[in-house]
Amino acid sequence: MKILVINAGSSSLKYQLIDMQNESVIAKGLCERIAIDGSRLVHKANGQTYEFTKDMPNHTVAIKMVLDALVDKQCGVISDMSEISAVGHRVVHGAEDYSTSVVIDEKVLQSCKDNSELAPLHNPANIMGIKACMEVMPDTPMVAVFDTAFHATMPEYAYLYGMSYDDYKNYRIRKYGFHGTSHMYVSQEAAKYLGKDIADTKIITCHLGNGSSITAVKGGKSVDTTMGFTPLDGVPMGTRSGSVDPAIIEYWMQKTGKSVADAMKHLNKECGMLGLSGTSSDFRDLCDNGGLDNPRNKLAVDIFAYAVKRYIGSYTAVLNGVDAIVFTAGVGENTHYVRERALSDMDYLGIKLDKKANDNCPRGQIADISAKDSKVRILVIPTNEELVIARETKALVNL
Ligand code: ADP
Repeated sequence: MKILVINAGSSSLKYQLIDMQNESVIAKGLCERIAIDGSRLVHKANGQTYEFTKDMPNHTVAIKMVLDALVDKQCGVISDMSEISAVGHRVVHGAEDYSTSVVIDEKVLQSCKDNSELAPLHNPANIMGIKACMEVMPDTPMVAVFDTAFHATMPEYAYLYGMSYDDYKNYRIRKYGFHGTSHMYVSQEAAKYLGKDIADTKIITCHLGNGSSITAVKGGKSVDTTMGFTPLDGVPMGTRSGSVDPAIIEYWMQKTGKSVADAMKHLNKECGMLGLSGTSSDFRDLCDNGGLDNPRNKLAVDIFAYAVKRYIGSYTAVLNGVDAIVFTAGVGENTHYVRERALSDMDYLGIKLDKKANDNCPRGQIADISAKDSKVRILVIPTNEELVIARETKALVNL
């Protein structure tokens, strides 16, 4: 059984074709600059990379190109489209409508549209991807896997803000949380590594990438997470500010004479590591090859690591102890300086890093970087959101 996993953005579309027999990726790729000049498809299969430059005026044309590449004599991996049993789509926001993945029908598509007001940057693009696939593959079952679903188990006292209850009831203002597929996957992998039933575990998962969130997972269920109503909340990120005093926004607008839209653009695109360092949003630029010798780069990364540390401490309290802290995603898996700073001076909580293991952490595999006498296991676990989407899809289409 082969499942196509689609992650559609407004001008990009990532895909993976996964053979569920052994959960191996048989082809993957990326359509870039959809509906923009210079669009291209980069397709990886059979150990080779192929590039196709062709106009992609919309997502339907992009999906057609992907399917053509998958069945192509030279760069293809299947002989016919009918070999694709189902398609799993990443959908960012399921709001309170979906606490699990779901087979897509017209009703589901409509509620994803209704939830676009909660995720205007993401849901409309995800829907474009779904519609394009439905057009090109009308007989193939499709499943939506929501970033928010894993966090549906948060208790009300964790997901409500200290605003008026009417704001929640009337406008759906609450914490939703994101990166759910990643937090779910790495917490399950951590439980396996610990050799424990996940129901008996307390795990803090740190998904640190360009966007970052940290989740407290108790017995396999999310009980709190740092991203909120939108992915802007929580720790500072590549270009996002993370949580700030909300009164700052009005003050900033008065000082700069700029609009609400400008303020949101500023907080989403011009702050975080980029705004603090003044050089880059990319942790490789900030940390590698002497990047940390630049004091502003170091300050930015230290602010980030300090925020991670604060949440680890706070979630240790939330969980009443912790069995394992997991680092994942681009920064979590690769940037040893961030892990070291975030976990420094936490021996009171039983958290002790093995500096050598941390500095020499192998890439692409599970690594235990805790000191022998650390009460808490500190793990680096590569995330695999596409595999979660494929597994959820397989379970739901039941083929
Ligand atoms: P997202 O999926 O949120 O775009 P990623 O999880 O791919 O982000 O993480 C991207 C971040 O990870 C960048 O800041 C990048 O610098 C950082 N990073 C550090 N080392 C590496 C590495 N070896 N490979 C990929 N990303 C890395």
